[in-house]
Amino acid sequence: MSNSVQNYSRPHVTGKVERRIRLDTELVIKDLVAQVEDKVILKGASLTVRSGEIHALMGPNGSGKSTLANVLMGNPFYQVVKGEVLYKGEDLLAMAPDERARKGLFIAFQYPVSIPGVTMASFLRTAVSARRGYDKDALMSLAEFQKLVRAKVEELQVDPAVLGRYVNEGFSGGEKKRAEILQMAVLEPEIAIMDETDSGLDVDAVKIVAAGVNRMYESSGRKMGALVITHYPRILKYIKPTRVHVMFDGRIVTSGEAELAEELDQIGYDGIRAQYEQVAAEVAGEGEVRSAGKVFWVKH
Ligand code: ADP
Ligand code: MG
Repeated sequence: MSNSVQNYSRPHVTGKVERRIRLDTELVIKDLVAQVEDKVILKGASLTVRSGEIHALMGPNGSGKSTLANVLMGNPFYQVVKGEVLYKGEDLLAMAPDERARKGLFIAFQYPVSIPGVTMASFLRTAVSARRGYDKDALMSLAEFQKLVRAKVEELQVDPAVLGRYVNEGFSGGEKKRAEILQMAVLEPEIAIMDETDSGLDVDAVKIVAAGVNRMYESSGRKMGALVITHYPRILKYIKPTRVHVMFDGRIVTSGEAELAEELDQIGYDGIRAQYEQVAAEVAGEGEVRSAGKVFWVKH
């Protein structure tokens, strides 16, 4: 772990390795082209998430949002063809998935898997021990873990009974999402990526998820960075994004302030699609940009 002191703040000495949230943490995605099997899905996606910023990534189904999340976590089924991703200035794509997690990148998936036979408590204790730099055979002490997890359970208003259950086994959609938020809160990521943590939830559950994210953001001293991937603008009523991006056919075709989400709510993805197609045709007509995978609809 590098230790250039001027880049750190808020000492947080709870594990064996001293952890501090960095102010300069950055996730830089540059012109990413990625494929699944033989199909190119991401066609030049670029996006930067910095410490303290909350980005919303929106877009219709099939536009490549989950593909991006999978590439960022290192899912081997997704091949990067071109482009790069830097995390804290290092090549993220060269890191093993567990190294990404240890370095403070957290990804909550759209379809979380269940782990029969492993309780949430044991899963969380192993995960937080790894995140805090403990050796594999010397986990965080039970007392310390319990203290930490109790505080988070209370903060997020999660039913503590969840800790004794097997990970995601038989969880309802809402319970899975809450378990993910709990996991995220325990790990205290520097950059959190949430893939449709809000989908399939009723309004009350969306509010709880959003409140959980907001509390984590506040308790990080507003230093956590987040990429909230969502199909629906509704969660953005409760989580105020710094920037909103719309993905379409594997590229980010427009970015804007929080109002873009409201606008999208009104014109819908069909409205964006129409504008995108028009711009794409014009750009193609001039014979530039499109082939470079950088079509951009700039809002007037
Ligand atoms: P989104 O999350 O925006 O709905 P996805 O990234 O899930 O979009 O999907 C983008 C495209 O990639 C879709 O056409 C989908 O069928 C395809 N795709 C995604 N994951 C896989 C996979 N594991 N195998 C085959 N095709 C996939
Ligand atoms: Mg998806």
